[in-house]
Order: sequence, then C-alpha cells, then structure tokens
Amino acid sequence: MSMITAETKPQANSVDPKGMLIDGKWVDAKSGARIAVENPAKRTTIAEVPRGAAADVDAAVEAAAKAFPGWSKVPPRERGRALLRIADQLEARAEEVARTIALETGNALRTQARGEAKMTADIFRYFGGLGSELKGETIPLGEHVLSYTRREPLGVVGAIIPWNAPVMLGALKIAPALCAGNVMVMKAAEDAPLGVLLMAEICQEFLPAGVLNVLTGLGEECGGPLANHPKIRKLSFTGSTEVGKIVMRAAAERVVPVSLELGGKSPSIVYPDADEDWAVDGIIAAMRFTRQSQSCTAGSRMFLHEDIFDSFLGKLEKKTTALKIGDPLDEKTDIGTIINNKQFTKVCKYVDEGLKRSDAKLVFGGLPPKTGPLSEGYYAIPTVFADRSNDWRLAREEIFGPVLVAIRWSDEAEAIRMANDSHYGLAAYVWTHDIGSGLRTAHAIESGWVQVNQGLGQVPGMSYGGYKQSGMGREFSLEGMLDSFTQRKNVTVNLEVRR
Ligand code: NAD
Repeated sequence: MSMITAETKPQANSVDPKGMLIDGKWVDAKSGARIAVENPAKRTTIAEVPRGAAADVDAAVEAAAKAFPGWSKVPPRERGRALLRIADQLEARAEEVARTIALETGNALRTQARGEAKMTADIFRYFGGLGSELKGETIPLGEHVLSYTRREPLGVVGAIIPWNAPVMLGALKIAPALCAGNVMVMKAAEDAPLGVLLMAEICQEFLPAGVLNVLTGLGEECGGPLANHPKIRKLSFTGSTEVGKIVMRAAAERVVPVSLELGGKSPSIVYPDADEDWAVDGIIAAMRFTRQSQSCTAGSRMFLHEDIFDSFLGKLEKKTTALKIGDPLDEKTDIGTIINNKQFTKVCKYVDEGLKRSDAKLVFGGLPPKTGPLSEGYYAIPTVFADRSNDWRLAREEIFGPVLVAIRWSDEAEAIRMANDSHYGLAAYVWTHDIGSGLRTAHAIESGWVQVNQGLGQVPGMSYGGYKQSGMGREFSLEGMLDSFTQRKNVTVNLEVRR
C-alpha cells in the first residue's frame, strides 16, 4: 500500500476495481479518499481503491444488519446452494482471479496464485454442502419435557483479513459465516484488495444485497471502527499477533466472541533417517519458499539432527537455488516478490543481522541484488543460516520472508523442548521413517497443526488453528463453522400444561 502522488497514477497492466461493496452497490469512500495499490514486482501503481473509514463502516454495518433477518431465515440448504453457485462461478473465472492475485501480491501465478484461486472455489463448495449440518440436539429430560438446542447465527460478523493469501483467507470467513446464516462486513488488506473485490463481485451475483459487504481501507482507520462497532456480534480476524491483540481487546470491551488466526514461527524437526530428497522437497514446501515464505505456517525453524546437518543443508541448497525467482506472471517463475517495501526492508534487516552475527553461518542466500532485473521489484532471495542457538531474534521472531534458521540437535527431548520454546504454536513438521518417533514428536509439539513427512497447505475440513499466541478458534471445518459462526440456544418445553 502507498499513498497516491502525482508520480504514482495507475499504469498499463492496471485493474479497475468498481469500489467497495455496500448494500449490493459499488461505492466510493464517503470522504472520496483513495489508496493506491502497487504491483510489487514492478513497484508501480496498478489501481486505486476507496480509502474507507468510520462513516463507511457504519453504512456497511447498517446494510448488513438490515439484511440479517431475511438471510438468517433462508433455509440453510438454500444458503448452501448460493455458495455452490459462487463456487462454480469462481471456478469458471479462476484464471482471472489467479492473475489478479499474482499481480497485486507478487505471488507466482503457476506455483501459488492458481492454487489459491482453485482452493477458494473449493472452500465455497465445501461449506455450500454443509447447510444441513447446522443441527441441534434433543436433551432427554423425561416424557413430559421437550428440550432441544438450536444452532443460531450470531448476526453481523466483522471480518478483517491480511494480504498474504487474501482471496482464500477471505473465502474462509465468508463461506462458513454465510452458510450459518450470518451476514458480513469484511475489510480487505490495504496491500491486496483487488482479488477480494473480484471475489465479492462474484459472490454478489448470487446473494441478496447487504449479506456480504466488503470495505477497503487502512488498518486503524477502517479496521479499527469495524472492530469497535457496537452492532458487530462476532469478530473474525486473520493477521499478525500484534493486531490480533488489539482486535481481541475491542471484542472484550463488548463481550463479543472473537476468532483469531495469527502469526507463527513453526518448527520442522528432521530425524537422521530422513536425509533424503523427499524430505528436502518437503522442507522447501513447508518453508513456503515459493510464496517467499509469506505464510503463517512457514516452517522457518529447522531442527536438523547433527548426523545429517551438513549433508542435508547441501541438498537443500542445491534444490532451493534451482528455483527460479522472477516476474510472478511469468509461467517459468517459481518464486515471486515480497508484498511491499515495508516488508522487504524488514526482511533485508533480518538477513543483514544474520550476516553480521559471528556465531551464525550463512549456508546460502543473502541480501537481494541491488542491480539487474530483480532489483526492479521487492525480490528477496531464499536464505538459510546455521546456528547452534534457538535464542536469537532470527530463530524467535516471525520474519514473514524467506529466511530459514537451521539448528542442530542430538537428543529428541531437547529438539522438542527447543521447538516448543516459542510464544507461537501454529504449525509444525516432523520428518522421519520411524512412525514411533514421528507420532511421539507430533503429540509432544505445542502446535495446532502438525504434519509428519509432508509440508502441504490446509485442506477444507481440517480443524486448523493456533495454540498459544498463534490464535484461538477454528474456522476451516464443519466444527469450525459451528463453533465460530453459530450460537446455541436451548428451548425447553413443558408438555404437561393442562387447560
Ligand atoms: P496485519 O495484522 O498487519 O494486518 C491484518 C489486517 O488487519 C489488515 O487488513 C490490516 O489493515 C488490519 N489492521 C491493521 N491494524 C489494525 C487495527 N489497529 N485495527 C483493526 N485492523 C487492523 O497482518 P498482515 O501484515 O496483513 O499479515 C501478515 C500476518 O498475518 C502474519 O503475522 C501472518 O502470520 C498472519 N497470518 C495468519 C494466518 C493464520 O491462519 N493464522 C494466515 C495468514 C496470515
């Protein structure tokens, strides 16, 4: 995100978003202010979107509140049908969605953006089939009593999302919330609003006005009023732990339920029997190098057994440096760009700190080139440091860039202790042929999601979410929809009333 100046007017290869979606209409911010959206591969402005603020949040929340009584009474299977139609349309327009994602996020089209567009359709399809699962229970209190529970929607959901997989993460809130009968006001991330607006346009074809409202704007200025709006009955946030705490405080003020999908610093534990190509491929996938590691689940702390430390790193270097960094829209590109200058500068600072640290050894990578084609965009280079310590900043803080720290271990208990020595607890990866070691370690790790011998992405149906400061609540599954987007009501009827 950057502010509009005379030099940053939209250029060729630009997109023309229609505005924010409020009450079924495409509107500008009431102030008329706009935000420039940048193509991080070229550092050029590709679009402008409204700079929504408190007055726009009010209008969107009012529209949603007006739509709620109608939408919540649509039979769940009908609501599901609308989501299924959205899924079909998202699939039909998947290439357009993918190209928009690649253009604004810098995520490579072939390795990332197409997968995200497909997953977005899958998410709508998954939740579209769950309408009939919004079941309650009956409680056996005796023949003279009928006691049952209903799963009721909460009302207007305020959703705030980040830029790293914007469309998929938006779908993960829209689809379960709407299936359960809620209505939504979503704020897209200022750095990547275009794909989300395109998804909203597709959704709007199949939804009554006001059921889904999408705002664009800055964090504190637009997300703040949304988190604090008195008519919001549920907050659903994906983003950094720091902002998650602000959202949680706003929720606490009004005792509003909140789900938080936050940051991570996920460990990969590699056993000595896994010094093989498949494990190296898995580590590259788990580290999300082909998404510039801008992933909350990136396995960015690698605990390597001392017996294989050097040979494994050698294989990792060979395979990682063979990946092609370049224009996200080029079919040959494996790795695209960092999202913006702020993140790029932050990643470079971490790399610089690693280079200056005397105990750490640079295995490969380093600072980005200052000249040549890669200097035209925010291109970072996959970088690996080897160190004995799990205590330095690079091993503890979420870098959100392609910087991996490799740490030696010899004793399993010590590896698990180091893996758990983090305030995060989102994902983890274990690599071994020994099923006993794999499962023992998976159970001992304090993370919401542990994969053994694979480093894949989430799949709808998994109850995905964080332990510790990586978040609370689950949204990716049937249980996630029920827990995060419904509230239970008990109705108890005395059947013995006499006239
Ligand atoms: P961020 O927290 O800076 O911003 C996320 C969203 O919050 C944006 O829309 C932003 O505008 C908004 N925001 C910022 N300040 C706000 C405020 N004061 N009040 C209300 N809203 C505000 O995060 P980011 O940089 O966009 O995304 C990267 C972070 O997201 C990383 O920490 C990553 O781990 C996390 N993330 C987590 C998951 C998960 O599933 N756990 C998924 C993706 C990203």
